[in-house]
Amino acid sequence: MHRCDVLIVGAGPTGLVLALWLAAQGIQARIIEQEQQPSDTSRALAVQARTLELYQQLGLSEHVLARGHTVAAINLWVKGEPVAHLPFSHIGEGLTPYSFLEIYPQDEHERLLTEQLLARGISVERGVTLRGFVDQGPHLLAQLQHQDGHLESCQAAYLAGCDGARSTVRHVLGSGFPGGTYQQVFYVADVCGQGPAFNGELHVDLDEADFLAVFPLAGSGRARLIGTVRDERAARADTLRFEDISRRAIDHLQVQVDQLNWFSTYHVHHRVTEQFRQGRAFLLGDAAHIHSPAGGQGMNTGIGDAINLAWKLASVLKGQADPQLLDSFEIERIGFARQLVATTDRVFTFATAQGPLADLLRTRLAPLLIPRALALGPVREWLFRTVSQLTLNYRQSALSDGVAGHVHGGDRLPWVAVDGVDNFNTLRAIEWQVHVYGDTEERVRAVCEVEGLGLHVYPWQQAYGHAGFARNALYLVRPDGYVALAAGDHQASTLTDYLARSPRRPQSL
Ligand SMILES: Cc1cc2nc3c(=O)[nH]c(=O)nc-3n(C[C@H](O)[C@H](O)[C@H](O)COP(=O)(O)OP(=O)(O)OC[C@H]3O[C@@H](n4cnc5c(N)ncnc54)[C@H](O)[C@@H]3O)c2cc1C
Repeated sequence: MHRCDVLIVGAGPTGLVLALWLAAQGIQARIIEQEQQPSDTSRALAVQARTLELYQQLGLSEHVLARGHTVAAINLWVKGEPVAHLPFSHIGEGLTPYSFLEIYPQDEHERLLTEQLLARGISVERGVTLRGFVDQGPHLLAQLQHQDGHLESCQAAYLAGCDGARSTVRHVLGSGFPGGTYQQVFYVADVCGQGPAFNGELHVDLDEADFLAVFPLAGSGRARLIGTVRDERAARADTLRFEDISRRAIDHLQVQVDQLNWFSTYHVHHRVTEQFRQGRAFLLGDAAHIHSPAGGQGMNTGIGDAINLAWKLASVLKGQADPQLLDSFEIERIGFARQLVATTDRVFTFATAQGPLADLLRTRLAPLLIPRALALGPVREWLFRTVSQLTLNYRQSALSDGVAGHVHGGDRLPWVAVDGVDNFNTLRAIEWQVHVYGDTEERVRAVCEVEGLGLHVYPWQQAYGHAGFARNALYLVRPDGYVALAAGDHQASTLTDYLARSPRRPQSL
């Protein structure tokens, strides 16, 4: 019988990132995929700033930037008239090294992750399907079926269901998937063409009828159209062709399509599963949450799930943390998934609702109000922070404690690069560490030494204060770059108390 520490089911972006982050922390997972061949369709395009920040840990962001397309601005159109132009450089600057939207088609993204995994000695086992599993207490027993039909039993300490919206793992666990399905059908079309919407920026058209967004792809004259169709056409989604979709929104954006490279339609659901964990099995990515692609959040959230779980599994498997650490995965990720599904639902409903009132709101009031709102710096910054997932935090988690300056336990460590010193560089170690901006006490140094914690002291600069740090405060940072503890006063004893009650075990023991 095959035995492994972690059996990952599904080699989409979520499963691949989980395998990579585990490998980077010394855990060789087994990753299986039912499909014989990798997918060659572009699907999710947007790689958000927070994902790129996390990708820095493994040096992946440089690869994505080299191969993808950087979008500098978003344009909003209403019935063919441009009503707002939103350049990213003005809103995200100083918040993140990635103050833009990066477009990188999912098939290319998966190829990159697979190559990186191979470089770490792990290959995806294709043509292997999970049929079922039983949690036997000390381990799990999974039944796998190979392409030639033969069955295999695999014993694993943990099982990660990264097996997409129709997840077998979710079905075996019996975890419900409450929510609903939108009436409208989405279509995606990768095209070569011409027109003002092919200027390398993102364009969104709001209309009385169908919704349309034009995403630039790498190379000139290439774009992805994402739109909705409703009325009687939605009922025949499976046979719908590009020629059948409404020309109105496309004409509004003056899109001239010269060549159609890929066209697909799909129904969109908004659902979050009831449990992200049951015993030794976990649900991540589309297996746990699905929603409209409005805002380009889906794949990024799956990647976030994977990075959240990877360091916890690695710590437990290496004996560096108590298994209770794994309880925090569901608490930290399910709240965000529910909030995300509710928000994307509101945005999508606004963009596509039918009726005279909805039309009035969308085509008369929105063109007046949106440019005024976007003229306000704080509104633009809030929008960027939200969509890029920089605001995603774990303040409600049992692992989070304290506040110092504007930084709370559970927040993403704010990014500062000043005089050539980038405070995210130390996060590449993927380990617990302490940051101090200013001076630190000898007692703090002593606690860090005993506990095996890296201590990084950054001489005070105004830029740290602007980012929200308090001078001389202590920030205990988790392996995934989120602040666990923020302590202004009595730092050594606060740190000792925190470590004594946390599931993390001292590394030096
Ligand atoms: C046509 C289309 C367009 C999309 N466009 C966008 C977009 O513009 N923006 C956006 O954010 N998202 C978009 N999405 C959604 C996005 O693709 C998903 O959010 C993303 O793929 C989720 O990644 P995942 O790894 O969690 O799941 P998946 O990518 O679904 O991967 C799951 C994998 O598990 C495998 N698997 C399933 N069951 C088993 C089993 N029993 N045994 C072994 N393997 C199994 C599957 O074959 C699959 O490869 C789109 C999806 C589609 C289909």
